[in-house]
Amino acid sequence: MFKKNLGHRGPSSLCRCLAAFVSLVLLCCGGPMALAADSLEELREKQERLEVQKEINDQRLEELEKTAEEKAIYRDELNQRIESVQKEIDGLRTGINELNWELGQLEERIAGKQAQIDKSMDLLKARIRALYVTGEPSAVQVVLNSRSLVEVTQKTQLLRAVTQRDRQLIERLNGQINAIEGDLDKINSDKELLGQRKKALEAKNTELLELYREAQDLAANAVDQQWGVESIAAMLEGQMEENEEAIAQLEVEIYGRRITGDFVGTGTFVWPMPGYTYLTCNFGDGGHRGIDIAGGDIYGKPVVAADGGTVLYAGWNDSYGNCVFIDHGNGYETRYAHMSELAVETGEVLEQSQVVGYAGSTGNSTGPHLHFEIIYNGELQNPMGFF
Ligand SMILES: [Zn+2]
Repeated sequence: MFKKNLGHRGPSSLCRCLAAFVSLVLLCCGGPMALAADSLEELREKQERLEVQKEINDQRLEELEKTAEEKAIYRDELNQRIESVQKEIDGLRTGINELNWELGQLEERIAGKQAQIDKSMDLLKARIRALYVTGEPSAVQVVLNSRSLVEVTQKTQLLRAVTQRDRQLIERLNGQINAIEGDLDKINSDKELLGQRKKALEAKNTELLELYREAQDLAANAVDQQWGVESIAAMLEGQMEENEEAIAQLEVEIYGRRITGDFVGTGTFVWPMPGYTYLTCNFGDGGHRGIDIAGGDIYGKPVVAADGGTVLYAGWNDSYGNCVFIDHGNGYETRYAHMSELAVETGEVLEQSQVVGYAGSTGNSTGPHLHFEIIYNGELQNPMGFF
């Protein structure tokens, strides 16, 4: 249905593409973009759920961190108490060792004195035996059988015969032994006290060690739990990040860079079909969505972006043919239809006047021309109001 001389065509045939564009709108709104929007909604809901989970998890983590800290403090306190009790026990052990050494010394001294007494007793007995060798045998026997001086003095009259010097020596030695034995008793009772205290402290230490082991288990357990919850937090964060990426990708697919708001066109338009100004169909003629720009040798000539923006769609459409839709980020969208070839891809960011394709007659078209539309916030505009 290609006619070379567009200028000779009647208006009715030139605007025939109109009816097809009405169905195109339906195509665009019910097609893959709607599906993408649905899954975007799902992803956003999933993100919200993840955020709630994350919040709960974070709270739990905070509680666990506090618990772990408390348990660690309690454990450390017990450890300090154990250390001080052990220090006391060490002190008592040293004290007991010193007393033992003193006891050894005293026992040695007592043994020395005892040996002196034994010797003195032997001498005394020898003297008595010599003095009374002719006396009453029974009396002598009593003295010889006596085990101590007291017995001798109490039971016999022979004491009078014993020399004053011997008696004094033995009494002095006995007095010394008694004194040493007094020290010995004192040290033994000290030692016993220290031993009792040591035993009590050791029992306390055992108790504290038990508590410490329990506290250590609890602290370790709290840390384990904390790690568990931390790993869940990391997992949730990973999922959220992934989901966020998926959302961002889908948003780019659906809205181009309009969502990110980091690209806005200049706000003024350049003529999309350089060198060709002849209109074969005006905006609104029979409900026409845009303007048709034609010319005798227009086929294959470059079509340019009226303003900078992001390509919402670049591809085939049964009505538009090879077409490009550009979002300019400021509420404006422009569309270019029926091209023979495309020069851009969906999602691409374009500068004003960048070539988007080449004039043609694809889709619902009766001859080479550029069908051009301007849409503002979803409302079709008369493109001629901008030039
Ligand atoms: Zn048209």
